[in-house]
Amino acid sequence: MSERASPPGGLALVQALVNTLDIETGRDALDTPEGRAPFGLTEDGAESARALRESLRATLLAHAGHPPHRAVTPLGELLARAPLVVTVDPADGSAALAPVDDGPLLSRIAAAVAEAVTAGTWARLKACEAADCHWAYYDRSPAGRGRWCSMQVCGARAKMRRYRAKGA
Ligand SMILES: [Zn+2]
Repeated sequence: MSERASPPGGLALVQALVNTLDIETGRDALDTPEGRAPFGLTEDGAESARALRESLRATLLAHAGHPPHRAVTPLGELLARAPLVVTVDPADGSAALAPVDDGPLLSRIAAAVAEAVTAGTWARLKACEAADCHWAYYDRSPAGRGRWCSMQVCGARAKMRRYRAKGA
């Protein structure tokens, strides 16, 4: 886990959703009403939100060059069901993709992805390569080649494992 600053724009929502599950302990915030509230979810919506979460995680792993952590519905297939509209600000003519009627979680995630693609930030949202972590984090490294949510936690543990594997 990381206590780094939030990623830019709507990516904060994507990151927050992916990080509702603590893989190491199995604790899932979507199991509780308090954990679902920030996403406007009821118990009924939790199951599809979990599917969306794992499809997102697989995509964030792909951003870092890793295979999916498990079989998931392709993210594009899920997002294709999200109703989005093009909004245009009459004051300055700027346009954006937005969820219909402040839409459901799926639409807000789809709009966040579209916004991040435009901003050039989408590929920097990644999932940590540590199998017991896979936490979503925003890669702020200059070259965009970060591998862990936190160099202090997962990076250090990976180094430690390599060190032990060498038999040193
Ligand atoms: Zn990690």
